[in-house]
Amino acid sequence: MKQSDCLKVNGQGHLTIGGCDTVELAKEYGTPLYVLDESGVRAACRSYRDSIDRFYGGRGRVCYASKAFCCKEICRIMDSEQMGLDVVSEGELYTALAAGFPAERICFHGNNKTDHELCYALREGVGLIIVDNEYELMRLDRFADELGKKVSIAFRIKPGVDAHTHDFVRTGQIDSKFGVALETGEAMEIVKKALTLQNVVLKGVHCHIGSQIFELEPFELAAQRMIEFMAQVREETGYTIEELDLGGGFGICYTEKDAALRYDSYMEKVSVVVKETCERLSFPQPFMMLEPGRSIVGSSGITLYTVGSIKEIPNIRTYVAVDGGMTDNPRYALYQSEYEAVVANKADQPKTMKVTLAGKCCESGDLLGENMPIQQVESGDLVAVLSTGAYNYSMASNYNRLCRPAVVMVKDHASRVIVKRETMEDLVSNDL
Ligand SMILES: *Cc1c(COP(=O)(O)O)cnc(C)c1O
Repeated sequence: MKQSDCLKVNGQGHLTIGGCDTVELAKEYGTPLYVLDESGVRAACRSYRDSIDRFYGGRGRVCYASKAFCCKEICRIMDSEQMGLDVVSEGELYTALAAGFPAERICFHGNNKTDHELCYALREGVGLIIVDNEYELMRLDRFADELGKKVSIAFRIKPGVDAHTHDFVRTGQIDSKFGVALETGEAMEIVKKALTLQNVVLKGVHCHIGSQIFELEPFELAAQRMIEFMAQVREETGYTIEELDLGGGFGICYTEKDAALRYDSYMEKVSVVVKETCERLSFPQPFMMLEPGRSIVGSSGITLYTVGSIKEIPNIRTYVAVDGGMTDNPRYALYQSEYEAVVANKADQPKTMKVTLAGKCCESGDLLGENMPIQQVESGDLVAVLSTGAYNYSMASNYNRLCRPAVVMVKDHASRVIVKRETMEDLVSNDL
């Protein structure tokens, strides 16, 4: 299990996470169950932060993209790690503020923020609003005026970089719903517009080229184009944009096929390009922001399920059904994302079967994976799906009126619930 340092196998052949026996966790908290290793999350934060210190003289900030996994406790952890926080909705902002996360370290993203969301962010003093389009810019300026505030903004820019990842998670090309394009002149136009407005202060430019990316070249190219744009803005307007936000998107290891990069290699490579481009254009080196989401929490999380029915269809496949599915992890149904699975109570045994791991929802597409190598699995076994810390709980639904599982945080052999399991009462709580 190369996904994560927090996973081990104990003397009983049980999978452990953060020193806790998964079989015991399942007994204590029930299944399905999300488990997240706190030390792994904190180590990922530190790794990004240290890389900014080491390769860029500390002149930058790492903002955790909270959509990867958002709850109050993760916001508190991010605060204690001196991270910034990205939010994309009223709900994520509310969660962060409810956890006491300082508003000035929050960045508000999104391609279609509502009037209500913009005013909420203004009233709460959110540090930076990443403006997606002109319609938003004009409304933000007006609301800031009405509320008597000056608001710091950055623009979401499509740098025209093709990141080699799944179509649904590519966001840097012209045909994207996010941001304004460089090559059409749209970006320059909106910058000039912002410079005429009284209530917005243009601090930065931002790009985010996609997710689950394993190559460094797209990031390097994006950084270069963004600085060239910043220099062009200075040339045409005399205004110097001081911050460059390069977004997130760093890939993590879901199966043995993925060769994950070290998080610090991102800053190491990108800082070279930033420094060189700045030197070439005599442009001052910007304050840098990074926004990792998946790579902060993804590999530190697992999901535990109890195996129910097993259906062997001769010469076709074996369905192993678990007590969760697309409701707690829709990523296979959405983009055929591959995961590694382990029989947690037989983790010391060799993987001798290949199975289709199915959920319990009324959808044939409700699968967690196909062709998954796994130990000899029987009904009643405990299955762990690995690297589910990101985009699982945050994408979970109540389809078929299934309850969202609890999230348990483990650290140094101890466990605690950080998100309670939903109850039947919760399911009907909004029904009239
Ligand atoms: C989703 C997103 C991120 C985080 O992406 P990951 O792939 O999870 O690292 C960062 N910035 C923006 C603007 C995003 O939309």
